[in-house]
Amino acid sequence: MELLKKNGLRLTPQRLELVRILEKLGPKHPSFSEVCDAMKRRHANVSRSTVLKNLNEMVELGLISSFSYGGETHYEMRPNLHVNLAYSNGTIVDVDDEEVRELMLRLMDLVSRRAGVKAKHILVMAY
Ligand SMILES: [Zn+2]
Repeated sequence: MELLKKNGLRLTPQRLELVRILEKLGPKHPSFSEVCDAMKRRHANVSRSTVLKNLNEMVELGLISSFSYGGETHYEMRPNLHVNLAYSNGTIVDVDDEEVRELMLRLMDLVSRRAGVKAKHILVMAY
């Protein structure tokens, strides 16, 4: 909630609900459809386009992150560097420890130097 306020997003009931949903489902890396389904249970009249708009705003502000996998966009609230490991049954779990973070920072630095731009974020999916 504090993150929403700090970043100047109005605390609409829908945005608050999205934060709650992502806090609850975040570790499972819910897909857009799963977020919409959870939203509809509390706010039956919210359209998918409103959910998408709110999610996109939160991604742009860096409050949440998103990635594409299996033909869908998935969301999570975890801000620190980690690897998302996808199992063949569709489950996505975080692989997150000191060694992983260190390697990812080194990879981000290497990519930045190779490309001549400063990479702000790195996303690693493992299958
Ligand atoms: Zn993750």
